[in-house]
Amino acid sequence: MIIKPDKPKCHCGIFGIFGSQHASLQTYYGLHALQHRGQEAAGIVSKSFSAKGNSVFNIHKGVGLVTEVFEDKSIFHSLLPGRSAIGHNRYSTTGASKSRKNIQPFVVNYRLGNMAVAHNGNLTNAKQLREELVNDGAIFQTTSDSEVILHLIARSKLTNQIDQIKEALSKVEGAYSLVILTDDKLIATRDPFGFRPLALGKLHNAFVFASETCSFDLISASFIREVDPGELVVINDSTLSNGFPESYKINNIKFPQKHCIFEFIYFSRPDSFIFGHNVDKMRRRLGKVLARKHPVSDRDGEKVIVISVPDSSNTMALGYQTELEKLNINSKLEIGLIRSHYIGRTFILPGQEKREMGVRIKFNTVKGVLQGRTVVLIDDSIVRGTTSKQLVKLIREANPKEIHLRISSPPITHPCYYGMDFPSKEELIANRFNVDINSIKNYLEVDSLEYLTIDEMLEAVSEANAENFCTACFSGKYPSKIDPTLTKEMYEI
Ligand code: SF4
Repeated sequence: MIIKPDKPKCHCGIFGIFGSQHASLQTYYGLHALQHRGQEAAGIVSKSFSAKGNSVFNIHKGVGLVTEVFEDKSIFHSLLPGRSAIGHNRYSTTGASKSRKNIQPFVVNYRLGNMAVAHNGNLTNAKQLREELVNDGAIFQTTSDSEVILHLIARSKLTNQIDQIKEALSKVEGAYSLVILTDDKLIATRDPFGFRPLALGKLHNAFVFASETCSFDLISASFIREVDPGELVVINDSTLSNGFPESYKINNIKFPQKHCIFEFIYFSRPDSFIFGHNVDKMRRRLGKVLARKHPVSDRDGEKVIVISVPDSSNTMALGYQTELEKLNINSKLEIGLIRSHYIGRTFILPGQEKREMGVRIKFNTVKGVLQGRTVVLIDDSIVRGTTSKQLVKLIREANPKEIHLRISSPPITHPCYYGMDFPSKEELIANRFNVDINSIKNYLEVDSLEYLTIDEMLEAVSEANAENFCTACFSGKYPSKIDPTLTKEMYEI
């Protein structure tokens, strides 16, 4: 059995570099820092030259973690030479998407040469576009929405490659952050809503792009700026000489910005800078607002113990406890749960309850910290609630006085169509209990349960302009055209 966290999963992390002697190795490091965005497959495409001076696209990809797919270090100079490369980490759910064919980057050769693409996000009109393309004679190699973009570019009647890409992107809807490698340039672009992050950086003379800036830190690249929603940033040999990336707009249609708020809540690393802000800072603020709106004090006036579900909720717990102190509530931040980082594929003995064992293998309590105390357990979100229930059971065994669960996001009630994967609507705990917090509290067997409301969550990120966020998985208000009568599966290829 593979023990997976009961958390939403993102489909991907992307990285690109142009103008570096060690392009594929640096892409490997970049993907390594983005491993949290996708753990089921990884791939790198580099561009080099043949003996005759023609450009050659080299590919290595496989199923597994970045360190597993690129286990042999000779791959970088023998299989992936060249001064430019792009890479992709993938998370997949369905059988079809586990297919090796769906591992990115995808490479095609069309009338203007070679082109490779790596995509983070999810297109909401891919199914319809694919049907139109198939009816028009297109032959698809994969079952990925990302391949639709390549077909649209290749079929464009325009002659300039940037115009072809702009035309193709004007036809797709939904979420995309893309890096595209061609024979003579590296292009990075974000959808006009800016759902997913994408940053531009510099490493000596080379230019780099990554889903999150933590990738830049690993290779000592400096962050320049984020790619704007609806922008195409182009790096070519001229950029290397003059230091100025070219910038284009996909089109002139004005879209509201709708960044995925879940990137701040759970998905991005706290050491990254996305959507104009440090993730760490936003996560602390979520914890602070949670404390202000839903504080916990000990019934006997003793010290309250604040613990997090590691690692994703650590920063929120910090913010929560700091704010309790400001509210004059005697409290202490403690490490009450220890997480094993080495679970991998684990066997469960017959007769053992899978869920319970799954949580026990992953977490243990520090009993001395919890015994006889009022404990506040901070978690970033609850998806199915199965892990939360087992965690509470585990904490109870340490004999605390009370357990209070505080969630730094609102109840998740709707599917995400923009690249975050939740279980079916029926499986979400909030829907199972009709968003009745008291019933969820009783099911989880905690002394109290509070979530942030949507307004409270937006108050926490107000510095980044609350208007600029997608909150659809909490509110059902989708920023782009979504037909609520269709299931999420009906939108996917
Ligand atoms: Fe993010 Fe939720 Fe919007 Fe999806 S629906 S983009 S997870 S905020």
